[in-house]
Parts: sequence; structure tokens; C-alpha cells
Amino acid sequence: MKALNATTSGIIESWRGNLIVSCQAPEGTALRTPGTLARIAKAAVDGGAVGVRANGPEDVAAIRAAVDVPIIGIAKRLQADGKILITPSFESARDLVEAGADAIALDCTERGQRLGALGRLTRIRAEFGLPVLADIATIEEARAAQAAGADFILTTLRGYTPETKHIQDFDVQFVRELANELKTPVIAEGRIGTPQQAAAAIEAGAFAVIVGTAITRPDAIARSFVSEMGNVARANGPVYIAAVDLGGTNTKHAVVSQDGSLLWQSTCPTPAMDGRDALLRHLGAVVASCVRSGGELGFTPEAVGIATAGWVDPDAGRVVYATGNLPGWTGAPIRTELERGLCLPVSVENDANAMAVAEKRFGLGQAVNDMICLTLGTGVGGGCYINGRLSRGSYFLGNAFGHVAIEPGGLPCTCGQSGCLEAYANAAALVRYAGSPFNTAQQVTNAAFAGNPQAREALRTYAGYLARGLAILLHILDPELVVLSGGIAENNTALLQDLEDDLGRVVIGWEQRFTRLALSKIARYGGVLGAAAIALDDRDRRIRAGTEWT
Ligand SMILES: [Zn+2]
Repeated sequence: MKALNATTSGIIESWRGNLIVSCQAPEGTALRTPGTLARIAKAAVDGGAVGVRANGPEDVAAIRAAVDVPIIGIAKRLQADGKILITPSFESARDLVEAGADAIALDCTERGQRLGALGRLTRIRAEFGLPVLADIATIEEARAAQAAGADFILTTLRGYTPETKHIQDFDVQFVRELANELKTPVIAEGRIGTPQQAAAAIEAGAFAVIVGTAITRPDAIARSFVSEMGNVARANGPVYIAAVDLGGTNTKHAVVSQDGSLLWQSTCPTPAMDGRDALLRHLGAVVASCVRSGGELGFTPEAVGIATAGWVDPDAGRVVYATGNLPGWTGAPIRTELERGLCLPVSVENDANAMAVAEKRFGLGQAVNDMICLTLGTGVGGGCYINGRLSRGSYFLGNAFGHVAIEPGGLPCTCGQSGCLEAYANAAALVRYAGSPFNTAQQVTNAAFAGNPQAREALRTYAGYLARGLAILLHILDPELVVLSGGIAENNTALLQDLEDDLGRVVIGWEQRFTRLALSKIARYGGVLGAAAIALDDRDRRIRAGTEWT
């Protein structure tokens, strides 16, 4: 390899650990004149840049007249394959050198190599005695460029070739990989948007860093501000959700606003025994009626939330397991089916988990990190937040609170086990404790509040069993808050008082805990609010991630 002359070695040394600014402006943009780019280059040098990268002999000549730092010249030319190639010929390099470039960069990706880059690299270096910089996208391309004698390897084209186009962010790990393996110094370039990323590149072993757009393109910088602000405006604007609570008996559905207001609602029977296809068609029809009715009122839903009985994989939007209450529902691909028909994003969650999400977003759990929500009705279920996140378990089968055993060898449960909390704390159990003449849990609760001693005693018995189940959960999770919802809990302050007394007896360290027991204030609409809340959570996630639903 021919040695570079002393001036050239000085150039190289001046770049070590420093910033080079790429001053380019595409045709048709406001800054597209050599004079303007020369001023931008001068400003960058005033700010501490030790080199400039520039495109074409006109820009190079104008910048040469404005600054003293070394200039890396490139020539972007359209090729027969319809794509730009960086410095595609020896002649284009010669024009840059004559205009005042101190170094030449060229495309040494696989495509560049097919178009003669490595031979061109060797020739430019030999004839001009200038440093030659290889723009690459992969480590294989970097190795080939190093073998051909490149003075620097530049990560410029990572993310811009067919093999790397999945990489959309600055890839510091790639810089580290190159720096560790290659003898040739590596310069980080491409999608470096912040001073922190530039510093990270140096830390990863880059010899220098080239930054372009983030410094020199006010149009692109303004666009990034506008886009980020637009995201927030969108997040704060009015949002309407089509929310469905699919229960074993009824399907409640509503149009819900972002603040949890029910703007329209309806209920219809669930065709529970008709199988999966009928249930999916039913969901589709119910959502369509939300979209139509919301639209007529000026509240067109932009997303759909489905809270369903059964355990759900929310990532796939699929039912993992459902009991005999909904035959055939296990495996139902709810999201896939609905999204295909609706062209709206669909979120799916287990109904008890969804209640917890509603409590977190609209109810008592808004400022709470650790919370258990228990639903007391035909069944006993729940959801919980741990460290501010909804806990679902590894297989989406967690929170089966109704099936913790409180009585070994006790009453049979719908799940096939015996002694489960559900068998002692569902609506039927409360009726059983009260005995004749009571037929519904509501009657028992009403009578207890009216002073009926038999009903009041039944409620105490019920609270005693519930406390045993809740104690197990409290011993494991130690939450700040326990919210009770479902028909039995509605306005049931007596239950709350009994439970408080019983927990003091069965929970260790109860006096040291500040666990708050409370009745949900949103229980009556908890199912549809839960469905809305999961859709809003998913929408927030999409906005944070900057991804649109497609
Ligand atoms: Zn059970």
C-alpha cells in the first residue's frame, strides 16, 4: 500500500475523536446553492467541526473558499439501475480533487463493488495520494474495502441497502463490531441524530463521527418537531373507542370517550352456545353497530376493545383458553378476524384483567402501582397490577383468583377442583348462606341493609370466606389497594366493613400494612370501560412507539 504524504497524515490525525459535518442539500430544497452550503459549512467549523463532507465539485469549491478544514468530496450520480451511486467513476473523483477535496469517499457496498468500487478505490488512492474513504453497510463489505486499501471505513450506508434496510436507527453496536475487528479506522456516519449518539459512537471505538441532517437541514429538523408535536396533539385530542364486554349471558357494548364517558351503549344476548364462528360474527356485528351509532352521533370510533370471558393472549388477540361457558371459544382468533372486517385496530383482553385496566385508567387505581381488583358475581375473578404493570403471567393464565383453594376437600368448583374461593364467594354461595326465602344475591344484600338479621349473618359468613381467599393474595402480593367490583360488591359497605374485620384476623402483619379496601365506583360499566381502557392503552403504546396501525 502506498504511504500517504505528511500533509495527508496530518489531516487524518486532526480528525481523531472529532466531528465532521456533512453539508448537503437535495435539488429543490431551500438551501440548495453552493454559496448557502459554504455558509453552513463555515458555521459548522465555527462550532468545532474539523472536517466537511460535500457533494459535487461546485459545492466542494465553494466550501473550499470558506473553510480551512479538510473536505471529503463525494459525487452522487444516478446509475442505469435507477439508483444513486456515490463517486461512480475515476473522473468524478478527479473533478472533486481539482475543486479542492482533500479526501474522496465512494460507495463500497456489494452493489458498489459490482460496479467496480474496489479497483476505483485503489486507483484514486494511488494517483492522487489522498485518503480514500469506503462507505459500507455490512462487515463483509468493510473487510473487502480494508483489503483494497481504504484509509477509513464509514458506516454511511447501513440501513440503505436491500440487506440492511430493516435497520432504521443509528446502529452503535455495528460501529463497535467494526472497530473491534478492523485495523482500518472506522468513522460513524448515518442517522446520528443527537450529541449523545455521536459520543456513544466514539465510546464504541469510532475514530471520528460524521453528522449531516441533524445539524445542517432546518427543513428536516422542523419536520421532526412538527411530527413529535403532532403525536402529542393526537394523543390529547378527542378519541372514541368501540368497546365490547362479551359475557357468557349478555354482550354489553358502547362507544366510550378517552375520559371514560359512555356516549352510547346497548346490550344484547350472547349466542354463547352457537360456537366460535357464530360468536365471531356476533362480535363483528356488535362492533359495527358501535361504529355506526357512534358515527351518527359524531363520535366515530378509531379503535376497538374487546373484553371477553376466557384467558387471552393480548399480543395475538387470541383466546388461549375458555371454559364451557363459551363452547369452542378456546383458540378463537378475535383480533385477526375483526381487524380484517373492520379496518380498525382491535385490542383483546380477558374481562377480569380489563376491569383492572379500567380501574387503573378511570377508577381508584389511577395513582396506585400495586393493586388487586376482585370481581364478585356469578363467578369470582380478578386482575392485578404489580409495579405499575398489569400482571398476566407467562402464559396469560394468571390471576385465576377464584380458584385459589380455601377449603381442602371442600365444595366442588366449576373448574373441576374442589374448595376453590369461587365456590364460597360467588353469588350462589351468598344465596345459600342466607337460605330460604332468598333467591338472588341482590335480595340478600338488600335485606341485610334493611336490617334482616338472617341476611346480615349470611353476608358475614360470605365475608369470612372471601377474607380467607383474599388473605392468600395479600400474603403473596402485598398491594396498596384492593378494589371490589361485580354485583355483590355494588354499594356493599357492610361487606367492606366485615372484610376489614376478618382480614385483621387472618392476614399477618395487618396492622403494619396500609392496604386500602374499596368498592369500585365504575363497577356497573367496568366491563365496557375495561374494553375501552385496553384499546386506549394500546393506542398510547402505538403513539409512544411512533408506529401507526396499518
Ligand atoms: Zn375452581
